Amino acid sequence: MALFPCLDGLPMSHRVLIPHDMEAPPVLPAGVTAHRLSGAAMGTSWSVQALAPQGVARDTLAALVQAKLDRVIREMSTWKADSGISRFNRAEAGSWHSLPDAFYTVLDAALSMAADSGGAFDPTLGPLVDLWGFGPEGRHDRLPDAVMLDAARARCGWQRIGLDRARRSARQPGAIRLDFSGIAKGYAVDLVAQALRDAGCVSWLVEIGGELSGLGVKSDGQPWWVALERPPGDDGQGMLVALHGLAIATSGDYRRYFDHDGRRYAHTIDPRSGRPVTHDLASVTVLHRQCMVADALATVLTVLGVDEGMVFARERNIAALFISGGASGYRESMTPALAGMLE
Ligand code: AMP
Ligand code: MG
Repeated sequence: MALFPCLDGLPMSHRVLIPHDMEAPPVLPAGVTAHRLSGAAMGTSWSVQALAPQGVARDTLAALVQAKLDRVIREMSTWKADSGISRFNRAEAGSWHSLPDAFYTVLDAALSMAADSGGAFDPTLGPLVDLWGFGPEGRHDRLPDAVMLDAARARCGWQRIGLDRARRSARQPGAIRLDFSGIAKGYAVDLVAQALRDAGCVSWLVEIGGELSGLGVKSDGQPWWVALERPPGDDGQGMLVALHGLAIATSGDYRRYFDHDGRRYAHTIDPRSGRPVTHDLASVTVLHRQCMVADALATVLTVLGVDEGMVFARERNIAALFISGGASGYRESMTPALAGMLE
């Protein structure tokens, strides 16, 4: 039975996705107030809409959100020289580091995703991300040669990181540069959502740089309807999802790229070649309860491409939308888990 039978007022032009294996949203208590917050962090914009219980002021929510974003940056931003991750990246070969909670959680998840994806996700690609001009060292206008590529590849490899789960410590094997850009935004969304839950909110939509997580219903009783992101110029029929107890993340080649000699080089690196992915995927969108997992999976599926990615996603019952092609036309492929959510 659909949780949200009232589809009135939705654009007729869109297909509608309803998650079905979840509890009904809580009834809104009396006296809740709707708040909207927004700002910039982590090189992107963020926004929060939340229904807060009586007595929780807008400023309180704003301070909570800011504290979580600050924490993610302090622990995991490779753009800040004094962050935890930057210190780890500079640390001596063979040194062990006790990690703060957020850093540990993300590294643990990133290494698990690396193992599960056969290395398609690799949180140690910092040197390659910089080599191709997508990292904190900034853009450059030449392509790397084979010698530079081999040198950067030799410095990558998630298997070389030692993780002591009992002590929540990690070992820097020497010259490894962690890069959490493929997973940290999603983690930050989860962290902010958890802070809203802890503050007593029963309904919210959190968004950071296009990754979102939602729970519950709005003041009008409607769920948080979110349009799945599509590449610019794609005029295919859109999809709206009721984001209740669910998060969504998109990896798109249009989000960060450069063009050289008529070719597009986008920011997802295939660890098998050390080069930006070469297939014609324009975007991959993943739905998952945890935004951190959705974010990492969107990167994994972008590396694998539609054919391999579809097999990977089917085996794990992942809800994903692949959009391939370009200006001359886009094609979409849905996993069975996503198709099963169509109304
Ligand atoms: P996303 O936007 O989540 O797809 O993440 C892309 C970012 O993740 C890039 O800008 C890189 O910093 C980093 N990255 C690129 N390729 C990979 C990969 N294969 N595994 C993990 N992170 C990656
Ligand atoms: Mg990602």
